[in-house]
Amino acid sequence: MEKRGIFAGVNSIKFNQFFKTDEDCIKYIAEIKWEEGYNCKRCGNKKFIKGSKLYFRRCLKCKYDESPTAGTMFDKVKFSLLIAFHIVFKIVTKKKGMSTLELSREFQLRQMTCWGFKWKIQKAMASSLTNPLQGTVHVDEFFVGGPEEQKRGRAKGDKKLVVLALEIIENGVGRAYAEVIEHASSKELGLFLKKHVSKDATVIADQWTGYTPLKKEFSKLEQVASDSGKNFNDIHLHIMNIKGWLRGIHHHCSKEHIQGYLNEYHYRYNRCNHMGSMFDLLIKRMVENSPIRLN
Ligand SMILES: [Zn+2]
Repeated sequence: MEKRGIFAGVNSIKFNQFFKTDEDCIKYIAEIKWEEGYNCKRCGNKKFIKGSKLYFRRCLKCKYDESPTAGTMFDKVKFSLLIAFHIVFKIVTKKKGMSTLELSREFQLRQMTCWGFKWKIQKAMASSLTNPLQGTVHVDEFFVGGPEEQKRGRAKGDKKLVVLALEIIENGVGRAYAEVIEHASSKELGLFLKKHVSKDATVIADQWTGYTPLKKEFSKLEQVASDSGKNFNDIHLHIMNIKGWLRGIHHHCSKEHIQGYLNEYHYRYNRCNHMGSMFDLLIKRMVENSPIRLN
């Protein structure tokens, strides 16, 4: 099998040399899609001939003429694939991403169109759940989208409650994950930890009662007094950074929206030492993810 061409790096001049036309992008998608071999989407047959257009494949048995973008997040995108690739590149390589307003200005698209595509990108940026946090992990909750003062426990009105887990490593911090939850209950906190944190990790939380029953599953869970935040400096700084970023860009307040932004934030944050592969990984996920229809 031929090795596919992979774009690595964050250099926009190199990016522009690699992707000059829509054809370059469709080729990139086709190579990812059929990297492990061809399998007809309709009948499962493995033999094909060239399809009606460049990089299309036609099934020899059922004659289905398959576009490389069919069944991917690039299906029926309302603008050129070259623009789509540029948007993905900007969102992964710019430290703070790009708002839909900035995207609409730069690429001369309607803001709603940008919003729809960015929403797909954020879906693809969600954690794969294959690399749970390890070692020492701090966990805390915070509110977004409303006044700071809020009684602990549950979200109300427009405010959304978010739980965050952050790896504490020698001389600094490691990866992090965050999720929108309804209540800071043992059940919801437990579901979050099980998804994103290794059972062997030393989980450190404050003295909120919601964490206490979780010691059964996370045997190294410790609850320590917050001491006015002194014991949780790193995670509080991380929370401040997320809040500052969200304040600058988000307008809608639905749970799904906030989750999308949290996914976006941590996709970049968790890969700050592997920036070279961020673009290719995201395109790969967008090709492998089933398309999302926006009504
Ligand atoms: Zn077929």
